[in-house]
Amino acid sequence: MRIGVLALQGAVAEHIRSINSAGAEGISIKRVEQLESIDGLIIPGGESTTIGKLMRKYGFIDAIRDFSAGGKPLFGTCAGLIVLAKEIASGEEAHLGLMDIKVARNAFGRQRESFETKLVIKGIEEPIRAVFIRAPLILEVGKGVDVLSTYNEEIVTARQGNLLVASYHPELTDDYRLHQYFVEMVKEAALTEKL
Ligand code: GLN
Repeated sequence: MRIGVLALQGAVAEHIRSINSAGAEGISIKRVEQLESIDGLIIPGGESTTIGKLMRKYGFIDAIRDFSAGGKPLFGTCAGLIVLAKEIASGEEAHLGLMDIKVARNAFGRQRESFETKLVIKGIEEPIRAVFIRAPLILEVGKGVDVLSTYNEEIVTARQGNLLVASYHPELTDDYRLHQYFVEMVKEAALTEKL
């Protein structure tokens, strides 16, 4: 499986390393044409307004919407989660607007800007290590959204069909089981496509 990491801004190299550790091939994606050669795409953490602007500038908004409509999985982490959301609580314009979630940016406040914790994830046996950096929260989810984990009763991991999102940075630890989970989603989608 070839999995791309959108390389406009943010934590790209770490995701590629985690994908490779999870048994797939990680590729840095800088041009829309490259989307044709991959089976799944990760939108990394960074700064969502900047990533959104660059996506508009380089034609990624429509290209990624088409990619998703074709059944290929997307995984958004931290800023990537914000980019995938249908609604941003501050009233900012949504970016891809693909996933039926409402999110709040920088939702943990100054005291807890950055921290590491362990999270129990539905579908993964033991808790995973998660690094939160000025992280967003999921405030509301639509009917088709499956909540995969919470932190202090707030939703931080969720899935809707071929879309997976995490508020935190799973790529900043050597625990790559959430990437493995995504690789499985990509494998399943590739199989369905062949049927
Ligand atoms: N605070 C950033 C935003 O709102 C996200 C932070 C991150 O990706 N680590 O876009």
